[in-house]
Amino acid sequence: MLFEHSPPVNHNSWEYDVAIVGGGPAGSAAATALSRAGKSVLILERDRFPRFHVGESLLPMSNVLFRELGLESVIEAGNYQEKHGASFISECGEKRYRIDFSFSDEVEEPVARHVTRSEFDERLLRNAEKCGAQVVEGARAKEFQSDENGVRVEYVDADGEAVEVKCGFLLDASGRYGFLSRRMGLRVPDQELKMVALFAQFDGVTREQGVTRGDIRIVTREDLGWWWIIPLSDNRTSVGLVLPKGADARRKGESAEETLLRCATESPVMREILGAAELVGEARVEADFSYGTRSYGGERFLLLGDAGSFLDPVFSTGVELALQSGLEAAREVTEALEQERKLNRRSLKRFEGLQRRRYAFYRRFVTNFYKPFFRDMLFGAAEWPRITRAMVVALAGYDRPKLRTRLLLWWVFFTVGLRARQSRGSALTSAGTADRMGSPVPDGTH
Ligand SMILES: Cc1cc2nc3c(=O)[nH]c(=O)nc-3n(C[C@H](O)[C@H](O)[C@H](O)COP(=O)(O)OP(=O)(O)OC[C@H]3O[C@@H](n4cnc5c(N)ncnc54)[C@H](O)[C@@H]3O)c2cc1C
Repeated sequence: MLFEHSPPVNHNSWEYDVAIVGGGPAGSAAATALSRAGKSVLILERDRFPRFHVGESLLPMSNVLFRELGLESVIEAGNYQEKHGASFISECGEKRYRIDFSFSDEVEEPVARHVTRSEFDERLLRNAEKCGAQVVEGARAKEFQSDENGVRVEYVDADGEAVEVKCGFLLDASGRYGFLSRRMGLRVPDQELKMVALFAQFDGVTREQGVTRGDIRIVTREDLGWWWIIPLSDNRTSVGLVLPKGADARRKGESAEETLLRCATESPVMREILGAAELVGEARVEADFSYGTRSYGGERFLLLGDAGSFLDPVFSTGVELALQSGLEAAREVTEALEQERKLNRRSLKRFEGLQRRRYAFYRRFVTNFYKPFFRDMLFGAAEWPRITRAMVVALAGYDRPKLRTRLLLWWVFFTVGLRARQSRGSALTSAGTADRMGSPVPDGTH
């Protein structure tokens, strides 16, 4: 292991105030905020940008974060597909429900965007560079050591050479790869959300017209899985299928592309949406994608975005959570640098508290989305305008809604929980009755 016999880092020997592992949205956001605060920043990025990334649908709350990061003109220049709402459709098309972000006046700017991540992530990274951060692409972080005086990071550069840098703090924004959590055993899988996703991009998918043209479409499945249909441009669409792991509809020997296309053919609504669309490139798979972490940081490091925790993407929260954590990490590290101290207990508690609270807020929506009664409620929500408005606030990415909204959301989850308990209770009662009446005996056993 590197550094074992090396002397501790001397404060004066820092080459950078902060090293960031990963140049995705979390890393770029942190680097932009730190550079704008006058700190020296090094971003180590394993890939060369532009690189493929899943996760294209953003939320209106991201606009607030873009403003905070001074990114308005960068986003404007991307000329992205506007998204005014989300349409939920049942597998056979008999149930439909649409939310528009303008339903609630709590959503100040009721429009979001869909982005092609390879292009969007590169835009953010180049902007961080323009703000002063140094970016090394093709640089895979390999080892790190932190002590009283700072952090040393070893990375392998594009030529395969090992390089060592010394800095004050390390921000891990390495995404689902989890540079620090792998090394420190921090990751905690979310047992309730064991899903698998298969996805690809298509050309020629049938589009909605009018204001709904830019909606993300969510098609629900009987097995509690769901599809996403995200319009990226006039012709290109991201299509994904999420399945509960136990109900994995994949067949032995079938490729991701074959499963995706077969499942689409089996669903009347997906058959209609895909029509004669053509799959572009390859179909990909991501499994077990929800997890938390035992800790979000230490005296010299913090875990950002997906490197810390990740939540099932049904409500498109990933990029927003990544940007938020990047900004919040930059705030804590800037303060520590200016006060010439490590990240103290107060800063760690504050950073960790924000990440945990936000994750828990959205997790409630996600876990409920996998309950039949919540889905029924969603499809019937048009009858309850106040509930709809409350849901819209949360689904627009506002994780600190007004008290009135919080109370309504609390009522929704309370009711869903109660219904779930009641239906479990009645299932047990009918099982008990069946037992007393004598269980039905399968044919052929007499
Ligand atoms: C199936 C699926 C669908 C999703 N859909 C959505 C959606 O619609 N909307 C949404 O908002 N979010 C969505 N997400 C989530 C979203 O993609 C992520 O939350 C977001 O990309 C997190 O940003 P990040 O910066 O933390 O990590 P990333 O964007 O993953 O960036 C991490 C970077 O670190 C680099 N890296 C990794 N290891 C190293 C290393 N050792 N050294 C150097 N660099 C390294 C990687 O190359 C990468 O560029 C989805 C996720 C999944 C899995």
